[in-house]
Amino acid sequence: MADDRKLTPRGEDFAAWYNELVQRAELADYSPVRGSMVIRPWGYGIWERMQRALDDMFKATGHENAYFPLLIPMSFIEKEKEHVAGFKPELAVVTHAGGKELEEPLVIRPTSETVILEMFGKWVQSYRDLPLLINQWANVMRWELRPRLFLRTAEFLWQEGHTAHATAEEAEEETLRMLGVYRDFMENWIGMPPITGLKSDSEKFAGAVRTYTCEAMMQDNKALQAGTSHFLGQNFSRAADFTFQSEHGTEEYAWSTSWGVSTRLVGGMVMTHGDDDGLIVPPRLAPVQVVVIPIYRTDEERSATVAKAREVEARLRDDGVRVKVDDRAHLNPGAKFYEWERKGVPLRVEIGPKDLEKGNLCIARRLFPEGEKRKLFLDEAEALGSIPARLEALQESMKERAKARREANSHRGVTEWGQLAEILEGEGGFVYTGWSGDPAVEARIKEEFKATLRVIPDPEFRSDTAPARCISGEGAAAHEVVWARAY
Ligand code: AMP
Repeated sequence: MADDRKLTPRGEDFAAWYNELVQRAELADYSPVRGSMVIRPWGYGIWERMQRALDDMFKATGHENAYFPLLIPMSFIEKEKEHVAGFKPELAVVTHAGGKELEEPLVIRPTSETVILEMFGKWVQSYRDLPLLINQWANVMRWELRPRLFLRTAEFLWQEGHTAHATAEEAEEETLRMLGVYRDFMENWIGMPPITGLKSDSEKFAGAVRTYTCEAMMQDNKALQAGTSHFLGQNFSRAADFTFQSEHGTEEYAWSTSWGVSTRLVGGMVMTHGDDDGLIVPPRLAPVQVVVIPIYRTDEERSATVAKAREVEARLRDDGVRVKVDDRAHLNPGAKFYEWERKGVPLRVEIGPKDLEKGNLCIARRLFPEGEKRKLFLDEAEALGSIPARLEALQESMKERAKARREANSHRGVTEWGQLAEILEGEGGFVYTGWSGDPAVEARIKEEFKATLRVIPDPEFRSDTAPARCISGEGAAAHEVVWARAY
């Protein structure tokens, strides 16, 4: 039975709102194992649509899917020094199997660079075998101490791209191409426009030369690292002894990249678009874009309105709309409205006996412009004809709304420590300042304000005037950077 209690308002307790929404919109539930979650059909349906869209984008950029094992020998993980240092505290390790202690412990993959590059090394002899452009859809495990549904779980679903190239330039180009694919996906499918750019050394992926990131802003003004793309240089190929014969006949280590996004994106979608009534799913990701609800009292009215609902369903399906008729007899219309609103279905079509008489339909919108009414009463043909365009317009307006909110909560040109403190400890948001490049400044900001350097932004996100001084007051600014509290 659905949980009908009202959600805690976002303004009162954002974390409580999020946790309640995820469960009451039936996206996910807690499992018997702390840190692991059960993804329910509504949540999985959204993830499936994300997967499908991303997979098409990966294929369009020349990648192929493959699958590598869940278990990785401990000795593999240990080959790359920084990698093992970064991941060791989060590893889950299998020591026993078949009733016996194993000779070598096996790690449940936290990420697969080590095993994939080992295999690439076997498959590649010369520069003619490069580039190798592989993606894997899989589950991974990182023993997170403070799990949150979707945002940070011990086991999560993701894709990990792994590519190998003959030159550093090609690998760098690939790293940036995939960052661009992520950005495009986040903007145009999730309606969650991120800031892109580089991570500082202290925030980069363990073992990478450079990490590029997509940082999105949630409605509580905190940052979410929504996806990352790593230029790995020759670090992992050296560890795996993955060499190839170059065009000039020399033996060289391959240049590699990796990039990943996870089920965290579902959490990002919730925190970007949800409201106090529940979720709002962007139309391109919605498993159901239009729910049709017949409204009746008598048996006669029931058969007439249900018949019309089926007609509407067929018509919309022909137009390529994902549509569902909710004709459950044991629920009244109000309960159905409430449930689908909470789940975030973009549009609802209501069909009652009066509508049938008049040849009208009612369209109720999950999100509508301020000052307008939720419900529109329209001539049937006009109503149905307008639906595909309404869904497209909603998709676009959700993106624009999120972008406007991000910009409204970005603070540029901050030069004083006190101002930084006031914002980070007050309303939050993205704070743009100068930074000398000194990691001690990052450590101090983390310690004092629980905030981190989210990104050294790409040129298009930088302020018109570059900051001159470091926010610490000491030294010139080497970069403009963005600080925020983050998930
Ligand atoms: P990484 O390989 O560490 O760069 O991770 C790739 C992406 O996976 C990150 O940018 C996050 O968006 C996501 N991610 C990392 N850790 C978790 C986690 N514990 N739960 C869910 N998503 C995660």
